[in-house]
Amino acid sequence: MKRTVFSGGTIITSDPAGRRTSAIAIEGDRIVALGDDALALIDGSTETVDLAGNTLVPGFRDGHCHPLLGGAHLAEAPIWGIANIDELLAIVRRYAEEHPDREWIRGFGYLPAMLPRGRGEADVLDAVVGDRPVWLTANDGHTGWANSVALARAGIDASTPDPPHGEVVRRADGSASGALLESAQELLRAAAPPIPHDDMVTGTRKALELFRSNGITWGLDAMATPEDVEVAIDVAGSDPSLPRVAVALVARPDEWREQRTAFLEARERARAAGPRVKVETIKFFADGVIESGTAALIDEYTDQAGNRGIPNWTPVGLTEAVTAFDKDGFQIHIHAIGDAGIHDALNAIETARRRNGGRDRRPTIAHTQLVQPEDLPRFAALGVIANFEPLWAHLEPTMVELTIPRLGDERSRWQYPIGSMVRSGAKVSFGSDWPVTSLNPMEGIAVAVTRQTPRGEPPGGWLPDERIDLDTAIHLYTSAGAYQSFEEREVGMLAVGLRADLVLLGADLDQITPLDLWSVPVERVWIDGALVSG
Ligand SMILES: [Zn+2]
Repeated sequence: MKRTVFSGGTIITSDPAGRRTSAIAIEGDRIVALGDDALALIDGSTETVDLAGNTLVPGFRDGHCHPLLGGAHLAEAPIWGIANIDELLAIVRRYAEEHPDREWIRGFGYLPAMLPRGRGEADVLDAVVGDRPVWLTANDGHTGWANSVALARAGIDASTPDPPHGEVVRRADGSASGALLESAQELLRAAAPPIPHDDMVTGTRKALELFRSNGITWGLDAMATPEDVEVAIDVAGSDPSLPRVAVALVARPDEWREQRTAFLEARERARAAGPRVKVETIKFFADGVIESGTAALIDEYTDQAGNRGIPNWTPVGLTEAVTAFDKDGFQIHIHAIGDAGIHDALNAIETARRRNGGRDRRPTIAHTQLVQPEDLPRFAALGVIANFEPLWAHLEPTMVELTIPRLGDERSRWQYPIGSMVRSGAKVSFGSDWPVTSLNPMEGIAVAVTRQTPRGEPPGGWLPDERIDLDTAIHLYTSAGAYQSFEEREVGMLAVGLRADLVLLGADLDQITPLDLWSVPVERVWIDGALVSG
């Protein structure tokens, strides 16, 4: 069996003690030795890799992302990350001109901070595309923006009631403005043609190639349907050069009882298709996002009297559904952002544990943005993994212009308590939420360590007590993800016997300043011991 020995740089094992080692040897898909033991294995047939002073880490594991949906969006109008309204409109206009055959013009990922209160107006889009439906989705995924033709096709007008758990934003005269919050986006989804299977397959492959080139060797797709499982299996099920994928199926408040059979069948199909795609997780949206005023808050929004957000479930409904899927042996994964959303999610998990009895269940709350102080110790007590998207924990424009004004100063300080959560003894994992934000793990690690923008603002970091050290940040983006996927005995650290998922970073992380972490490139990636990128 081919043996490769890596040495000559900083090797971060990501084990719980944060140990470094001088060398690592792999054979086939496994790590077989570390340190001097690895060097002693070098003989005439050994391939050696000189790290040239750079850093080797375990493959990154993205505990919450959307390669399926994000992949599908790669074929749409390229508005991802656009923060300027004129630029956005120019892109939409050009895309419509270049794609005369597209019945609907769609796009994902504009930054809502460029719009008043984060909400778009139909006539602004009408001015660039007036003859076809246009439907854009903000990068948070919780806010839609339609032009007048799209509103008409979906039958949305002044007489359309707000659907449960959603809002058709209206002008002063009661007519639909073009902004659709939360479940109101379903009105558009019902009218628009579905994304073709082939587009999904092509897009998902592109997305996973992007993950791989960023050093991500496993990701949890956190919003899928049973049909999407076929796409995931088609793309990643038999290609060992791609990251492994876990898929979380979304349970909906009004139909989860009917969904149960299809979810169990999808899990069986994935188990039969082999180990590279797993369907063992059910996703729930407890609430929305703070930026658009839909995250569920215990006290009202500071800038909007009477608004406490839009919980997607009643507390009883969420508890019932979580308990039922937990009983089916699924892992629970709950999007929860507001302090009330997180409180309800913890309560639901607590009840499911009590009713269904002891087992190793590793429920996960994703995003974990606004945690009221009395709920923080409950993560450790209940064995709930707090999944953070660390890149979000700095003073970027959405945070400064939309989020903090909506929360006020006191509550704003409860956001993304990564350091407190680690110190409380809770399990914590990291993710990107791509395509919501960049999938580059080094950017998230830079923020986790500094709580600063790439330019170093604010000095000392935003909420500096919530900073963590570099080794912890890497641990949370690697080993912790293996724990989240029940694979910590198999992968996630550089330890003898584990699978050799490795990433070579283009710098010595022990020598650079923390702010330089923002721009450390991923140079080469190995999955199961095989070089797959670089
Ligand atoms: Zn997400």
